[in-house]
Amino acid sequence: MSRYWSPVVHRLTPYVPGEQPKLSQLVKLNTNENPYPPSPRVLAAIAGELAADGRSLRLYPDPNAEQLRAAIAARYAEFAIAVPQVFVGNGSDEVLALAFMALLRHELPILFPDITYSFYPVYSGLYEIAHLTVPLGDDFRIRVEDYSAANGGIIFPNPNAPTGCLLPLTAIEQLLRRHPQSVVVVDEAYIDFGGESAVALVNHHANLLVVHTLSKSRSLAGLRVGYAIGQRDLIEALERVKNSFNSYPLDRLAIVGAVAAIADQEYFESTRQAIIHSRETLRNALLALGFDVLPSAANFIFVRHPRHDAGELAARLRQRGIIVRHFRLPRIEQYLRITIGSDEQCALLVQALQELVTPQ
Ligand SMILES: *Cc1c(COP(=O)(O)O)cnc(C)c1O
Repeated sequence: MSRYWSPVVHRLTPYVPGEQPKLSQLVKLNTNENPYPPSPRVLAAIAGELAADGRSLRLYPDPNAEQLRAAIAARYAEFAIAVPQVFVGNGSDEVLALAFMALLRHELPILFPDITYSFYPVYSGLYEIAHLTVPLGDDFRIRVEDYSAANGGIIFPNPNAPTGCLLPLTAIEQLLRRHPQSVVVVDEAYIDFGGESAVALVNHHANLLVVHTLSKSRSLAGLRVGYAIGQRDLIEALERVKNSFNSYPLDRLAIVGAVAAIADQEYFESTRQAIIHSRETLRNALLALGFDVLPSAANFIFVRHPRHDAGELAARLRQRGIIVRHFRLPRIEQYLRITIGSDEQCALLVQALQELVTPQ
């Protein structure tokens, strides 16, 4: 607290990111990073940008990141996405923050699930946007029929975080049709691990904004690149806010690295398939140890054990050098969210959990 703070700062409850420990020998399964390195083409592109003594770094990057937006539009050619329908930002967290300001800040409260990405209430607080939470069903699924209140917008991740549950596109279409006056933001941070992207619906629904990140399925959490796809007027709103805040959210290395990552479809396919395969193997191993494991379409699983306290399990895993995410929040305090690591990391986790849950 300080008398120098703006009044709004006193009222903020900032997001608390998952721990980034200094010790590198830990098995880090707490923030849904990808266990595989990025495509080798990313490294080559960044090295290329740094050639000639890094002279290009003297110059500002392209404020509109045209090259990256063209690469993203090309990736969605089957859905006829044009470059002006693509917005890029410094991680999808920044894209989401701009979307809250540009598209969700109206008179009416916005709606999001009671169990969801914990950044949404933080942005609502920052921009003083009222929100209503809509409870997930007992099976932790989003029930679109429960999104009936008059609202200034709707946002949810698909698959949802931290549950991993996937909503089919038909349900998203129902929501879009039911709320033509509101923007529906679908945060597809994990869609590449098992779902169908709502980008397919963008040209049919004027109120849809789909947000993606390169942090999870492209192994680039450290490069900070996210993007949004929607009809042109929605993208223009994001650009207006962005250009009122920071004209150069993506640096030169991020732009060329992201272009290379998106171009390497083959590498993307092989790493995402490997993670999907590891996820199913891990799910079966934990089911065999007596865990309840929600079906997941993401690069993490959400699990609980009927006889072991989740907080205690997390603490004991930590003593063994394995970190997972435990949220002390209503309805989910007995669950752990575990990122799908390499097969070796998954095996270490299963071994540790086996020791912890097997009666001595
Ligand atoms: C990881 C994550 C993000 C943020 O991704 P960045 O692009 O790294 O900022 C956004 N939404 C959800 C649901 C996430 O899990």
